[in-house]
Parts: sequence; C-alpha cells; structure tokens
Amino acid sequence: MDLLVKNGTLVTATDTYRADIRVAGEKIVQIGDALEADTGTLVVDATDKYVLPAGIDPHTHLASPGQGTTTADDYLTGTIAAACGGTTSIVNFCFQDKGDSLEHAVNQHIQSAAAKAVIDYGFHAMISDLTPSVVDEIATLPARGVTSIKLFMAYRGSMMVDDRTIIKTLAEAKRNGILVMVHAENGDAADFLQQQLLAQGKIDPKYHAPSRPPRVEAEATARAAALAEVVGASIYFVHVSCTEAVEEIQRARARGVDAIGETCTHYLYFDEEDLDRPSFEGAKWVYTPPPRGKHQPPQMWRAIAGGSLGIVASDHCPFNFDGQKDLGRDDFTRIPNGAPGIEERLIFTYQGVVDGRLSLNRFVDLVSTRAAKTFGLYPDKGTIAIGSDADLVVWDPAAELTISKSALHSSVDYTLYEGKKVRGLPDTVTLRGAVIVENREYIGQAGGGRFIARKPFTSHV
Ligand SMILES: [Zn+2]
Repeated sequence: MDLLVKNGTLVTATDTYRADIRVAGEKIVQIGDALEADTGTLVVDATDKYVLPAGIDPHTHLASPGQGTTTADDYLTGTIAAACGGTTSIVNFCFQDKGDSLEHAVNQHIQSAAAKAVIDYGFHAMISDLTPSVVDEIATLPARGVTSIKLFMAYRGSMMVDDRTIIKTLAEAKRNGILVMVHAENGDAADFLQQQLLAQGKIDPKYHAPSRPPRVEAEATARAAALAEVVGASIYFVHVSCTEAVEEIQRARARGVDAIGETCTHYLYFDEEDLDRPSFEGAKWVYTPPPRGKHQPPQMWRAIAGGSLGIVASDHCPFNFDGQKDLGRDDFTRIPNGAPGIEERLIFTYQGVVDGRLSLNRFVDLVSTRAAKTFGLYPDKGTIAIGSDADLVVWDPAAELTISKSALHSSVDYTLYEGKKVRGLPDTVTLRGAVIVENREYIGQAGGGRFIARKPFTSHV
C-alpha cells in the first residue's frame, strides 16, 4: 500500500521545513505541499509532529557472546525494541572465534537474523585472530556487503589484539574500502589494575571504574590513531567515554588523521556513582569503558553538540540483572560487561534538544545521518529525499513518559533510565514504507527486516 505522510515538519541533518511525503512501494517518490492521497493510499497525519529519517544504530550486540554468556536479546526482541525507539537499521557485531573464518562468523549472524529481524541489518566483522587466511579474507568482505572491521585493544586473553594486528588490519582495510573500528583501552593496563584491586579484596561493582581509568582509554586512542596515521588509514573509535580520549581524537585530526568518534547514550547520563548503587544494583552500570566522574556527562554533551564526536550509538549489549550480571557477585571482573539502550537511544539523545543543548538537525545527524554516511548506507538510509528508503519516524515532541522497564520492549530485565521523565517520543515508524510501529505499539512482522549490503567506506577528509 502506498503511503502519504501529511502536515508534518520534516527534519534532516541540514533542513527543517513543512512538507508532505509520498511513498510508493519502499521509496520516497515525492516531497511537496498539499499532496493529495490517491484511493487506497494510507495517510499518516503528522500535524504538530516532526518527521525524521529513522534512526541508524551502528553499534549493537544482539545474539552475541560475552564473558561466558549470551546477550539477552536475539534478532527478534532486540529489533522490536529498536523499532519502538525509532531505529530501523542496525549494524551488529559478528565475533570471530579464534581459528574461525570471518565468513563463518558473518554467516551465523545472517542466519540468525533472517527469520527474526523486524528492521534492516548489516554486520561488522570482528577480528580476534589475524591468521594468514583471515588476512586474505579481508579483501572479500566488501563483495559480501561488509565494509567495517572491529578490533579490541582490551580484554587481554580473549579478544585483545596486538599492535601488529592493528596496523596490518588498518593497511589491508584501507586498500579494500573498509573502515576499521577500535575498542580503545589499554588491555594490559586494565588487566593489571583489575588484578591489583582483586588482590586487595576490592570485589564490588564500583571497582570497575578505577580498573580502567580515563588515561587507559586515552592511551589506546592515541596509539591507534598513530597507527592509522602511519598507514594513512581512517579510524573509528567506538564508545568514547571521556574528555581525555576526545582530546586524543582532536590531536590526531589536527595532524590530518581521519579519526571518527562515537559515544553512547549512557555516557551522557551516568557517572561512576551509579556503579556504587546498593544491593549489587551497580552491576547494571558495568559497561566498558565505565561511567566516569560527575563532571564528564556535561562534557560529553558538549562534545556531541560541537562535533568532536559525530555519532551517538547504543552499544546495546544487554545482560539480565538476575542470572547474568550476578555471575560477578563475588568478583566485579566477572560481571558481563554491557547495558541495554537500543530503544532508549533516540529518546534520551533528543532530551538534549528539549534542554537546548542540541539543535534538531544536529540530533538527526547524531542518531541517523552521520552513521549512514560513515557505514555505507547513505543516501538509501539516513535522510529524507526522493529515491531514499521510506524509513521514517513521526516524532511527537509533546508526548511525555516516565521511563520504566515495563514501557520498553527489550527482553532484558532492567533499564538504566528507570524513573526518568522524558518529553518527545517516536509515535509512528515506517520501514521501507511499511508502518511497523503505530502509537508506540509494534505492529510489524518477524523477518520483515532485510540484510543491507553496505557500500565501501570512503573517507570524508
Ligand atoms: Zn560494544
């Protein structure tokens, strides 16, 4: 059925204007004033509402392993939660077991997403073991629609890679139109500090923060940026959490390095005191890098408003409080690292618009457009233009809600944002022209999402 979105205020990363949108099949075919509905056209009235390009979340861990367990959302529950939060595309990580091929890791995720995902999905390859055959595989990834690779500088003994792996991957990736993403923390330093704290009997969740202080992140950020500079590659920093790391990204950029920084919604809201909540509740805030000092969230808002960081992702990595986070009751290093946020991401970034910290256009760039451009989805995704996929969010700026676990759709058993009051919510969401969320209720179809073969990475520097 064709669709007409009427009377809304369209907001892209650059423009805000009143217009109607006509959708035929999966695409936007007309944008203009006072468009008339043909018979059989579904009309969505967006009076007093914004119409945005739907969210793109380039950092999710659905159906993914973590510290001996698996994340609480699969491709069905995780993508329903994403859709209800206004996101219609994700790029999920495919972890490579040691000795395994990248192809096998990606294929496993393609299979588990196909029958379940209700929104569109692409994949990042993760490399933990750069064998000669994996080096050869890198060149084959773009033909498979996989144009980014993630490396871990942390998690010594499991996913951490050495500097030789980093520089070699950067060089291969650059040759093949692939963007390398790094989790930048000095894994040896974090491991040393963890062991030191445990030896002193410091086992509670609050010790997660001092076990990986800001300089541990900043050191790895500077090192990875330097390695990218040496081979002339672009580099993407996931979940940047602190000013010390932002400064290293800015220093690299000042030297001409194409260093791209992402932060996550939770770094805009929480600080290390949340790790010290009573009754082990602090374990809910054990994500990596950890929540920082009280001064840090306002500085992260300034970093996203001013452009030092260009993308807000969720790093949705949900582990249940009961049955998963408890694995670390007697040892904070055994608490699975990660927190949910796939549904909360747009809502809580938008509060920056409510508070006057962000413009509407900046908000759209942070949660959608910049990710589309960086990860090879633009202009099919990430904007409102003729020929683009009709992935739209009708956003009600007047709607209010007190966030609670029961109001959200992830299968995880908590939200970091419990009890927080928000203004501005997604109310209708379309995926390639099909309404999948109406009045904040999910009405889509399991398996309605589609694999996105992403375009090769091109540097904007
Ligand atoms: Zn992550």
